[in-house]
Amino acid sequence: MPAARAEALEGLIASAELDGLLITHLLNVRYLAGFTGTNGLCAVAPGVRSFYTDFRYTGQAGREVDGFDLDPEDRELAKAALAALAGSGGGRVGFEDAHVSVRQLEKLREMAPDGLELVPAGDLVEKLRAVKDAGELTAIREAAKAVTGIYDHLREVEFAGRTERQVAVLLENEMRARGSEPSFPSIVAADPNSALPHHTPGDTVIAPGSLVVVDMGCVVDGYCSDCTRTFAAEGVSDHAHEIYDLVRAAQEAALEAVKPGADCKAVDSVARDMIEAAGHGERFGHGLGHGVGLEVHEGPNLSQRSEGSLETGNVVTVEPGVYLPDDLGVRIEDLVVVGADGPEALTSFPKSLITLE
Ligand code: ZN
Ligand code: ZN
Repeated sequence: MPAARAEALEGLIASAELDGLLITHLLNVRYLAGFTGTNGLCAVAPGVRSFYTDFRYTGQAGREVDGFDLDPEDRELAKAALAALAGSGGGRVGFEDAHVSVRQLEKLREMAPDGLELVPAGDLVEKLRAVKDAGELTAIREAAKAVTGIYDHLREVEFAGRTERQVAVLLENEMRARGSEPSFPSIVAADPNSALPHHTPGDTVIAPGSLVVVDMGCVVDGYCSDCTRTFAAEGVSDHAHEIYDLVRAAQEAALEAVKPGADCKAVDSVARDMIEAAGHGERFGHGLGHGVGLEVHEGPNLSQRSEGSLETGNVVTVEPGVYLPDDLGVRIEDLVVVGADGPEALTSFPKSLITLE
């Protein structure tokens, strides 16, 4: 697997008119070489597959790193990597400019051998990561199954009378008890906080009659899941039901549009047009969805600013929402694989408005 990834990367390096790439972003290093430690980098060029880490991680790297030569010496990692890239005849070497600070770039320039030009390379490895292989899909399916299990657990616990923070802690403890961990800090938002898409759970007590947005995800083997459901805490108003039904209809319609070749902007429009037609266009202020993998937010994005189209093997969220300030909010989010035969939703918890007591 790692060998195929590095080979595909070599193709992208060539089409970017570069001679090699210095990979410093740890998740990209993990993706290419399998290393899960906190200090390591790779060099990729024709004939070069080199991995570098420090003394603390040489044992771990020996077990984990696959398809890359391990540099046996403990030395300045980037300097060694740049020397290897220069040695392969590389004059134009790319670096991951989205992840390198101005200070780090200055250091890299100081370390670079004479004649080596450092060129911002954009998101080459991220482009590869947007299309998942079978092993990655297995991990993401497991992560989705794990978060679905946590939602099932939520139905069993007492809800009303607890604060948002208590519910969030309870959910995250359950994830850890089951051998997973949160992929991001869980969101529990009860009216009127449900109108804030990224509310931080606080001391608000979940009162009867309120809607509660719960957005959480798990990590399995480094891969994330992400799922939102909106619950009712006893007897919510007809108005709340109406908004809920609108978001659910928009979510289900957009889900059906997730196909290979579908224009990312057009998929966003499916949900947005429905919400706009109901008079709430202004209240759906974020994109429809985002890619999920080693990171909980990665490519491709589904929004009005998106340019590309979906490919088989993308994993994206579909999460429209309507947020009425000082009143209430609803969001429903599923994690979906773009399959050759249509969308495969991985988060299977029911989407009817469930009342928790
Ligand atoms: Zn989410
Ligand atoms: Zn999301």
